[in-house]
Amino acid sequence: MMASSKYFIDLIGFAHIESCNSSTTFSLHGHNARLTLSVQSQNDELDWPYVQNIVSQAKLLAKSFDHVILIPKHLVSLQGTQATVLVNGKSYSFPKQDVLLLETQSARIEDIARAILSRLVGLLTSSLEKSCSLIISLEVSRRLGTTATQSLILP
Ligand SMILES: [Zn+2]
Repeated sequence: MMASSKYFIDLIGFAHIESCNSSTTFSLHGHNARLTLSVQSQNDELDWPYVQNIVSQAKLLAKSFDHVILIPKHLVSLQGTQATVLVNGKSYSFPKQDVLLLETQSARIEDIARAILSRLVGLLTSSLEKSCSLIISLEVSRRLGTTATQSLILP
């Protein structure tokens, strides 16, 4: 028997340079999205203090994805206070502090789910030794649009 639980994490608003809504042109635009975290255990029971810790870390982490421009690191050159991005022949320049660099290839909604989840796991590694095996999934759901879910199995 598996135990599982779902938690609302946050609403975030972000900008990115992507082709969304079946448009083929890359442009700078923004979305609001709802973050939901699911935690599943292979055992009958969830370790509640541990799950609460995961949820509170996820809530803190979500704040860093709110009100920022999300850009894949490999597209950005940093010069002084500016982050410059070249996409499809267009050059954009933003103040560095308004940009959050992602390790992903692009900044589509599924990449954002993956980026948040991998940072979350990075934050949790110090407390993993006591954990049972968990599957954590993050759903990033755009209003009136796409939903992407990424999952990871914790050791
Ligand atoms: Zn978009």
